Order: sequence, then structure tokens, then C-alpha cells
Amino acid sequence: MAEDLLHSWDHPAPERAGRPSLFALLPEDFVAMGAPGRAEHIFIQSQHPWVWVEGRPRVSREIREWMAENLDTALPQIVERHASEDGSTKLVLALADGERIEAVHMPRDVRNPRVTLCISSQVGCAMGCTFCATGAMGIRRNLTAGEIVGQVLALLRELGPEKPHQITLVFMGMGEPLHNLEHVHRAIQVFNHQQGLNISTKRITVSTSGLVSGIEKLALLEPRPWLAISLNATTDAARGAVMPVNRVWNLARLRQALDRWPLGPKEKLTIEYVLMAGVNDTPEDAQRLADWMGELRHSHNLNLIRMNEHAASSFREPVEDRLRAFVACLKALGCFVTVRKSRGRDVQAACGQLIREESRQG
Ligand code: SAH
Ligand code: SF4
Repeated sequence: MAEDLLHSWDHPAPERAGRPSLFALLPEDFVAMGAPGRAEHIFIQSQHPWVWVEGRPRVSREIREWMAENLDTALPQIVERHASEDGSTKLVLALADGERIEAVHMPRDVRNPRVTLCISSQVGCAMGCTFCATGAMGIRRNLTAGEIVGQVLALLRELGPEKPHQITLVFMGMGEPLHNLEHVHRAIQVFNHQQGLNISTKRITVSTSGLVSGIEKLALLEPRPWLAISLNATTDAARGAVMPVNRVWNLARLRQALDRWPLGPKEKLTIEYVLMAGVNDTPEDAQRLADWMGELRHSHNLNLIRMNEHAASSFREPVEDRLRAFVACLKALGCFVTVRKSRGRDVQAACGQLIREESRQG
């Protein structure tokens, strides 16, 4: 079938052209572009939204005029805020061309100031996973590095935290980050820069559906974030049915890519597994999952996620007994397993529920 010969993720996703974004530039870029004033000063002011005045970095008129002539200074605009009962907030952001993305702000808990931001890397997604609402949208376009960084700055300005060391970033919003590796990696360079937010790579996680070509490229880059793999099934037949990417890079090939991943000291891989009733939740699945993980099971994280139900998919979450038995099985097999609390379900902010508003209504 033609569909099996060429996949939508084999093509680069469409991109928005335009001037370089203020928020994607590093100090050396300001120097190379001949910006007036000290490049570090412009970078520091741009990357710390708490010190902005009237929504703009506080810089001299000369620098402001230079920016207006040479750069795109637009920040994604927060157009909706949906607060969940559990303390998390889903934000809808409008981009300059009218596209919309969603991101989720998740404080650890009431006593803990740490916040995880779940951010998007694309408008829509080309990977076509059948359980995922974003997948049902198809791919609209890549976010630019400026939009990825701008999304984070907009969230921080609106909801904090004001201390960058309290921020954790997870690329688990809309899109497949490794299908937009160039912009995602540039954004990570900016987040990680000492004079910017200075977010350590151990607090930046890129989650992938298993785009092995992208994993292998990311393995060679610095700074290198931590990696999470969305596994979601334990046989090639079952995984290929729900995640088309498995028809190109199967379970064995994906496992090989993990073996080659250059783990840093103390670094842990995360394996995510969305439990779907009657699809991947049997004791045999638990056994195969532990087998596939092999040695990784004793020291790396296995996160189980209940299927978040939505209109674009008929999959359902398993009943509680089934989930408990699955967890017990994995623990008995020596797996380091946690059942992830799904945040923001009441405001459709949970994993796999992010979608453009028009497509939800359509
Ligand atoms: N594209 C990347 C990151 C975004 S999806 C990836 O697939 O890893 C983030 C996570 O949400 C993935 O682990 C994915 O398996 C999970 N997910 C997708 N749809 C879901 C749903 N309906 N319920 C629960 N988790 C879902
Ligand atoms: Fe894309 Fe991830 Fe959703 Fe699959 S699960 S369609 S890769 S966003």
C-alpha cells in the first residue's frame, strides 16, 4: 500500500517563515547580527519575563528600535485559561498566524513551589496515533524555536514560578518533538543557557512516540535533554495498529536505539505506557513489557497512564482491578513502576486530550 511506503513524518512539517524571533536568539546571535548595546543584556532581559515592563523586555530605546527593524518580537498570546480542580491550568495560546496550541501549567502540589510545564512542539501531529486527540488533527505545522520559548515565557509571566530552578519542562503537549528536532533543540539551548532561565537538562524531558531517526540525531546533540518513550503496546502487531510509527521502527529497533542512548550520570529513561481496556492491559502484556525493558526495568522509570477518553477515539481506560493486577504483575517482575496521576482531566488538559478548539467542535 502506498501509505506504507511514505509516511507523513518522512516529510519535514510545514514551517512559518519570517524574521528571526527575539526569543530564539542566544547572546552570540545578537553579536553576529550587530545589535546595539551588550548582547548579554538583551538576552537576559528577553528571557526573564518577570522584569518586563508592559509586556516587553526592558531595554533602551535604541535597542527597541533595532529589534523592531530586525526581529519578530511577538509572543504567543494566552487567549484561554482553564483551571482544573487539581491545581493545574490549561492555557490556549494564539500564534501570530492565527494557529492555536495548548500548554499545561502543573504545580507539584499546594505545599511545593515546583511547577511542571507541559509544552507543545507542533500545531497538530503527523504521527497518527489512534488513541490521541492531537493525532486526529493531523499536522498543521512546526512551531518555531521562538514560539516554543515564547510559549514558556508567556506561561511564566502569567502563572510563574518566578524562580527558574523550580521549573521542569516536558515536551508532552501537542506534536512529536523529534519531528521538529531543529527548533526543539534550539529552544533547549536557549532554556539551558546560563544567562537565560538556566534550566538543567535533567529538568527538560523530550517525549517521543519512537521516531528512531530522531532519537539517534538527538543522542549526538548538546545540550541533551532527558528522554521519554511512549511505548503503549508490547507486540509489533498491537503497537503497529495504534502507533503507525511502529511499522517503520519496530519494538526491537526502538529498544536498540535506547541501548545506544548515551546516558548521563544519574540520568533515567522514562517509558510511558497508556493503558487501554482490552488493548494492552493483560498479564501477558505486563510480562512482555518487562521482557522488552530487560535490564532497564530495575533502574529506569515506567509510567503507566490511564487512557484519557475523548471524542476522537473509542479506546477506554481499564477498570481499576485490571490496572491493579497489571501493576502487581510488573512489580513482581522487578519493574520500577508508577501510575501517573492524570492532571487536568476535567478541563481536557490531560495527556492526549490537547487539540485545536475548532477541530474539537468539528
Ligand atoms: N508526541 C510525543 C509527546 C506528546 S504525547 C509522544 O507521543 O510521546 C504525550 C504522551 O501522551 C504520550 O506518552 C502519549 O502516549 C500520551 N497520550 C496520548 N494520547 C493519550 C490519551 N488519550 N490518554 C492518555 N495518554 C495519552
Ligand atoms: Fe503525536 Fe504523541 Fe499524539 Fe502520537 S501520542 S499522535 S506522537 S502527540
